[in-house]
Amino acid sequence: MSIRILVSNDDGINSAGLDALAEVLKTVGEVFIVAPDREQSAASHALSLHRPLRVEEISETIYSVDGTPTDCVNLAVNGLLKDKKPDLVVSGINKGENLGDDITYSGTVSATMEGTLLGIPSIAVSLATKNNFYFETASYYALLITKYVLRKGLPEGTLLNVNIPNLPKEKVKGIKVTRQGKRVYGEAIVENIDPRGRKYYWIGGNELGFLDIENSDIIAVHNGYVSVTPIKLDLTDYAFLDRLQLDLKI
Ligand code: MN
Repeated sequence: MSIRILVSNDDGINSAGLDALAEVLKTVGEVFIVAPDREQSAASHALSLHRPLRVEEISETIYSVDGTPTDCVNLAVNGLLKDKKPDLVVSGINKGENLGDDITYSGTVSATMEGTLLGIPSIAVSLATKNNFYFETASYYALLITKYVLRKGLPEGTLLNVNIPNLPKEKVKGIKVTRQGKRVYGEAIVENIDPRGRKYYWIGGNELGFLDIENSDIIAVHNGYVSVTPIKLDLTDYAFLDRLQLDLKI
């Protein structure tokens, strides 16, 4: 029986990053694409519960959905591929990094959170640039990590967040297993006046910096390494839990 891989993203069904990923993953298994019909970046883990979802079947293995990345993975696993449950979910290749706090907002990572919630090993792949994408480099490493996960699996409730520096393959220095980094949020709100004289605000106008945390995903990618961060869906702070328990004991 062959391996089935569900590919999704948050940049939408027409993204070149999605094509590059699907293409390279075909070398290890049967690839199904279920992706949003338009860009859904920063959609986070939104699930559409209050409206119907429409699906366009582009081919027997490619579906476009008018929903979020989370909708796509949920609908794929519980509906479209119900009798062909995927062995793996891979999301990307995102046009842009998902480092540090980005994970909280990322639609790319959310697709893999949904896969993980549904009990399927999942990998998020992002390319750290806004233009001139080296998709070849990203798909090379996406395949490498995919092969690892197919061989070894992942712990229950844990996904891999992979970020690739935008470099020619031979310039990448290697892979670093990292921890989630931390961005510095500056004055990231741009305030302006629209053509009708009304104030508007734009979030995330500034280029943001980051804290110099040892072995963080951000530092690794900025130094030319592929960053692989294991992310747990269990967000409990166990160290604080113990203290809180003592503090709140009456
Ligand atoms: Mn995106």
